[in-house]
Amino acid sequence: MNLGLLLAIVVAVTVCRAVLALIAWSPWFERLYPRVSFPLVSVCHGFWAFACGVEILGAHPEYIAPLVADAFAAFFFSGLLFRQAAVVTLVAASGFIVGGLYHSGSFAPMMAFGAHLFINMGLAAIAGYAHERSVRSQFLEHGVLSEMAARDGLTGLKNRRAFDEHLAMVWQQALRDRRSIGILMIDVDEFKHFNDCYGHQSGDRALQRIAEEVDAVSRRPLDLAARYGGEELAVILYDLPREHVIDIAQRLQERIQALGIEHRGSAAGVVTVSIGVAIVHPNLHRSPGGALQLADEALYGAKHAGRNRIHVLSSEFDARATDVLRAVRF
Ligand code: GH3
Ligand code: MG
Ligand code: MG
Repeated sequence: MNLGLLLAIVVAVTVCRAVLALIAWSPWFERLYPRVSFPLVSVCHGFWAFACGVEILGAHPEYIAPLVADAFAAFFFSGLLFRQAAVVTLVAASGFIVGGLYHSGSFAPMMAFGAHLFINMGLAAIAGYAHERSVRSQFLEHGVLSEMAARDGLTGLKNRRAFDEHLAMVWQQALRDRRSIGILMIDVDEFKHFNDCYGHQSGDRALQRIAEEVDAVSRRPLDLAARYGGEELAVILYDLPREHVIDIAQRLQERIQALGIEHRGSAAGVVTVSIGVAIVHPNLHRSPGGALQLADEALYGAKHAGRNRIHVLSSEFDARATDVLRAVRF
């Protein structure tokens, strides 16, 4: 090949690869690389295949080896998606054909090398496709598994672990933004009696219907509804005015009663809940555990006052302690 043309191709390919390497090492890698890699890799592989195509049919048939290596590199070492790598490979195949034609003016001499190269390109594409498919399904499986691990099997609400993690997270957020957190602790009234009367399976179904109502309460991204344990459910409400939190708790309690699930052992004749409401303003002297304790104390207050009601405690009641909950203070 004309030395000037060969030099120009080598310089172009080297510059493209150097730019890619620099971006790969730069702090802008994540932002920049996905945008520039596809065009730059296409240019590299296209021109390089052209030069090799000329040389393979000339004095250097051994140049078929780097072309085969390039085909695998496009799928495995360039950071490209499968479709992009497939296009790069097509560009390289075209470059090889154009190089062969440039050298000999006909297709015939490049048949054997072309067959060898295209078979390897096909193999690289199949392996690249299988690899990307398995990476994607692993990613999805991981997502599904971690979502399942955070959910309660019976109600579909978040479980206790997810609740604790979320509370710790919003606690830090509220601390930084000087916002309040409302916690509703919801407990089904006389549920043991319900199970005894109607059976455990009816109890499960009742819990599921109650959980649907509770779930509907958490609508914003930082809110969360969870099954705290047994027949106790809990809701975190981030940065809502006190009256609003109380209003939500009251309406929730009314909606659950309005479900009209028969319960002969309860005063209302239907399944009801008691709700403890804690409204706290996180600061460095308080803890999420203390906030939960306050919600628990509020729930205890609602039970103590006769059930089927809400009871509210705010952080101004710091000094309050029930007989049952003295351990953790704010
Ligand atoms: P209180 O009004 O004081 O809350 O009375 P209670 O009977 O609801 O309270 P207690 O703690 O004595 O009983 C809770 C009952 O909740 C006992 C248990 O059988 C029932 N329970 C807990 N988890 C489940 C569940 O997943 N399914 C069913 N069906 N029942 C459950
Ligand atoms: Mg109960
Ligand atoms: Mg209970």
